Amino acid sequence: MTFPPNLLAGYGRYLEKGFVRYRQTHEHLAIYGQQPEVMVISCCDSRVTPEGVFNVGPGELFVVRNVANLVPPFEATDGQHGTSAAIEYAVTALHVKHIVVLGHAKCGGICAFRETVNRDTLDGNFIGRWIKLLEPAAIAMACMPVDRIDDPQLAMEYAGVRQSLKNLLTFPFVRDAVEAGNLDLHGAWFDIGSGELRTMDPDTLRFAQAGTETQQPLPVVAAE
Ligand SMILES: [Zn+2]
Repeated sequence: MTFPPNLLAGYGRYLEKGFVRYRQTHEHLAIYGQQPEVMVISCCDSRVTPEGVFNVGPGELFVVRNVANLVPPFEATDGQHGTSAAIEYAVTALHVKHIVVLGHAKCGGICAFRETVNRDTLDGNFIGRWIKLLEPAAIAMACMPVDRIDDPQLAMEYAGVRQSLKNLLTFPFVRDAVEAGNLDLHGAWFDIGSGELRTMDPDTLRFAQAGTETQQPLPVVAAE
């Protein structure tokens, strides 16, 4: 069994360029630990990489990726809650200042949910049970439509982000941090084909194209 050769080749290029570029940043992070200010909850989809979309280096984003960028509601039950564990660590240990739920176009998880006519059949496997988390989003979308868009896939992608933001507030430590003014929750959506980023207005819950800031990225500590 061979390790994928393209990954080893990529690692070689990374050592020569990427790691060298961030060498001192890596050394600093190794000694002093990570202090990211932003957590991103993104999809597993290979076409949406948070570090790429936001053009950030090591130590800047605390990322959890799962199918369809979903946040389950708070549950104090037995079992392994991977996404909830990451959120707990980000908020209670790292004290991140922002959580961004990053949805995206052409999401396969959202598409699978939409195409399942009988939602009871979703209980048959891991992915089905997971994307069933979208049910409240579908109900909310049908009862109180925020979007007037002629694209049911896009509407569901937006609704999924809104539901995840809602579910975040069911975690007591998230709610406490938000109410104390120490944490902001944000919705965003990325269009794979065009590279467009849309952010959600917290008051209207609508998504609109994000303006780009002219602020320069954090300076890279040059390697010696
Ligand atoms: Zn996806």
